Amino acid sequence: MKYITLSDDVISRMKFPKRTLIVSIPVRMDDGRLRVFKGYRVQFDDTRGPTKGGIRYHPSVNLDEVTSLSFWMTIKCAVVGLPFGGAKGGIEVDPKELSLLELERLSRGYIRAIADIIGPKRDIPAPDVYTNATIMGWMADEYNQIMREQLPAVITGKPIHLNGSLGREAATGRGALFVLLQWAKFKNLIPEQTTIAVQGFGNAGFHFAKLATQAGFKIIALSDSKGGIISNDSLDPQLIMNHKQTEKTLKAMLYCEGTVCEEAEFETISNEQLLELNVDILVLAALENQITEHNAANIKAKHILEIANGPINAAADELLNQRGVSVLPDVLVNAGGVTVSYFEWVQNRAGFYWEESEINHRLQNVMDKEAVNIFNLAQKNNTSLRTAAYLHGINRISGAMTEHGTHEHFQK
Ligand code: NAD
Repeated sequence: MKYITLSDDVISRMKFPKRTLIVSIPVRMDDGRLRVFKGYRVQFDDTRGPTKGGIRYHPSVNLDEVTSLSFWMTIKCAVVGLPFGGAKGGIEVDPKELSLLELERLSRGYIRAIADIIGPKRDIPAPDVYTNATIMGWMADEYNQIMREQLPAVITGKPIHLNGSLGREAATGRGALFVLLQWAKFKNLIPEQTTIAVQGFGNAGFHFAKLATQAGFKIIALSDSKGGIISNDSLDPQLIMNHKQTEKTLKAMLYCEGTVCEEAEFETISNEQLLELNVDILVLAALENQITEHNAANIKAKHILEIANGPINAAADELLNQRGVSVLPDVLVNAGGVTVSYFEWVQNRAGFYWEESEINHRLQNVMDKEAVNIFNLAQKNNTSLRTAAYLHGINRISGAMTEHGTHEHFQK
């Protein structure tokens, strides 16, 4: 069944990225050798506004991956109605092999290499896998030096003291909770009677788990790359994070050896077991491709919240759909991060900084509105939530392209 009519012009324009840049970045290593790293920046589409998307440092970064991720960002920004197109960048590097100074030289070198095509009104990078606020601070500083002016809005995800935004750190987890609360309303789920397992107890997973507990949900299992824990009672994410930071592990026994030991009984489980628990909601907040055709049949949760990007592959998505499992899709669920990045950009451009309560309130407005739009669209067309989210985003992109007229107009 056809849910949307797109003109041939729109389809043609959505097939290929608008701009692709491949750069070589020479870096003087601490031992005096020169190493040259390969970097990419792909701007997929800027019809709806300047392009936006993170920069990833990973040995497997390649042009195909960066291009697909830039398409994904185009959709995500449109799904939540931000005035941005989509982009992505990356460097083929194992950052753990570099010293801090080598990492700084590489990050500054990357900005020098792509400076011509980025800017607050053109393309605004942000952190992604293995890049963080410190790296964004170096990058913004390098750009300012090149341009000979202070332009903090060129990059988001900066440290708070370098014009970053309050609320950015928890934004992805918080945004995911807002989507879940709307879903709970839609499906008449009562938080106090709803059990949740969270795969991935990193930045996004931790903040989600903490806020979900405060909202009354029962987090009964958590995992990180080293394994998981499960309890019959609700877990306390903050206590577990405190322990993880000191002991570098989630293990229950160790947790109870600390000064804080709850009454709850813990058991350790594997990552695979966590995915297959009989919980109401499974939250995927770790990596891509965690549920595939090999384990989709074993998933018992009735609802899945995708905080990670692409945690369910296409074959598994189809299988889960057939079994009536509701998958709340990544392009909606984890868009809280880019939404608060947008707020950072707005604050940088205005030179006026908001209280955290204002940021959280504005984030809630965006997430609540777009979640309800997508749930209603899925119900109306009898589609999966993922299909509805894509329809919602593509509809906005198509509308912008159509209003824009011919492409030649907008070649900058
Ligand atoms: P992070 O590195 O802080 O956390 C990832 C966590 O996953 C770590 O605790 C790690 O130990 C755990 N993990 C890795 N492999 C695992 C496995 N096999 N089983 C269980 N746990 C495993 O990263 P993050 O920022 O929290 O991002 C998590 C996901 O959310 C990523 O897919 C990311 O792209 C996506 N995301 C994050 C943001 C954000 O603002 N942080 C925004 C959008 C999307």
